[in-house]
Amino acid sequence: MEANLARESIDQELRRRQLAQRLVAHQARTRTIFRLTGLSRHQLATMRRRWQVTAEMRRRGPVPKSFAAFLSTQRTRDEAAVMALWWRLFASVGATSQPNGRTGRLEIGECLCDVFEAHTACFPASTLELDHLVLLSKSVDEAAALALGRCATCEAVMLADLLGPRRRRCYRCQRAEAVSPLPTTSDEQKRVVSIGEGVQQELF
Ligand SMILES: [Zn+2]
Repeated sequence: MEANLARESIDQELRRRQLAQRLVAHQARTRTIFRLTGLSRHQLATMRRRWQVTAEMRRRGPVPKSFAAFLSTQRTRDEAAVMALWWRLFASVGATSQPNGRTGRLEIGECLCDVFEAHTACFPASTLELDHLVLLSKSVDEAAALALGRCATCEAVMLADLLGPRRRRCYRCQRAEAVSPLPTTSDEQKRVVSIGEGVQQELF
């Protein structure tokens, strides 16, 4: 019994350090790494020295809090929609694998890394950072300012700006509508559906 507990403790510590290494490699800010791994500042500084992480390899400053990075161009809107879709799918799978249906900080961190790595593989020139993914995942889970849904006209997956005007149609349909106005449907609100379920994210 004691041997099993010791083994679990070692496994947990190994997972924590592996997660920290992935987060450092993805240039997550120190605050994000602390919250997801529970490592102390001293532990993280020691690991960075061991991994030979230079100052130039780190992102500094406050974590992003503005949604402008997702909504500034059609390219970033599309990238953010894909990123948010992956988050909901990966997070849903992760949550169902937990015995109590609740996701811990290590699982959330590993899921964020999985999503970011998939995103980077598909969009190697993307300007979205791992800390943007943290902000995006929290936002779409809460559906407070941004939500993942489908365009009311073409049903493409889109990132809906819940605080902006004309948010129920994708950018392409909005442009088409500007040229040739579409009839407004009374149930447009209902046609935007959510995708996946959110996970507990009290960490951020
Ligand atoms: Zn559309």
